[in-house]
Amino acid sequence: MKKTTDFSRLDSNSRRKFLQYAMSGAATILMVHTPGAVAIQGRGKGWKQMSTKHQYAYVIDIDKCIGWGGCVRACEQENGVPEGQFRTWIERYILTEDGVYVDSPNGGADGFEPISAEIQEKAKRSFFVPKMCNHCENPPCVQVCPVGATFKSPEGFVLMDHEYCLGCAYCVQACPYGARFINAEKHVSDKCTWCYHRVKNGKQPACVEACPTGARKFGDLMDPDSDVSRLFSESQWMVLKPEMYTAPMCLYVELPKEVV
Ligand code: SF4
Repeated sequence: MKKTTDFSRLDSNSRRKFLQYAMSGAATILMVHTPGAVAIQGRGKGWKQMSTKHQYAYVIDIDKCIGWGGCVRACEQENGVPEGQFRTWIERYILTEDGVYVDSPNGGADGFEPISAEIQEKAKRSFFVPKMCNHCENPPCVQVCPVGATFKSPEGFVLMDHEYCLGCAYCVQACPYGARFINAEKHVSDKCTWCYHRVKNGKQPACVEACPTGARKFGDLMDPDSDVSRLFSESQWMVLKPEMYTAPMCLYVELPKEVV
């Protein structure tokens, strides 16, 4: 699924299309937009009212990622992620004549060893793909939670209330991206929050701040001056597993089709 739309300058018809993308899989949607206010009406699973002021998104430029791993380490430190578990991780893809090799040693936190000579001989291309929770607009993890411990905030963050989480792991199984895990220390479901605690205080997510190449960008699509708005309008971007109709809000620039 490729998009080149400029969200910041969309007319109401184009905004409707974008939001239909964002709500894909949510049955019939009728959206009315007025300046500063977006109302959505519709029927069926997944219907809800969206934010009136913000629509956050995360944009990853594959060509800029060098697999250094500082982002993964920054996340671990910022969020107290237990050793061996990851809220964000980096996968290395190696495309060869025989197929695709993927590795992610220690989630990419320590960087990557050079490709073995045997694979190097057959390699046509290699690149890094940072991954995390996609903060889907239509999140199956939220739909399956039996106690409402995970929810979508009006600005587009998929968050957890650990006080209510039973640790049943239904959400872990429901996520098509492997983004959730049961925290080995807290025994509750855990995942990336886009560093909500930082963003609400005007900061960037820790991984974005740590990235030395600008491969990770985060911001508000409703702000026409944000990096993500610029990338959204000027780049060819794709999402992971569009066939799942989850409408991810992590957008990938220059994502090769071999990535899953
Ligand atoms: Fe839920 Fe997974 Fe989507 Fe994150 S990526 S919102 S955990 S389904």
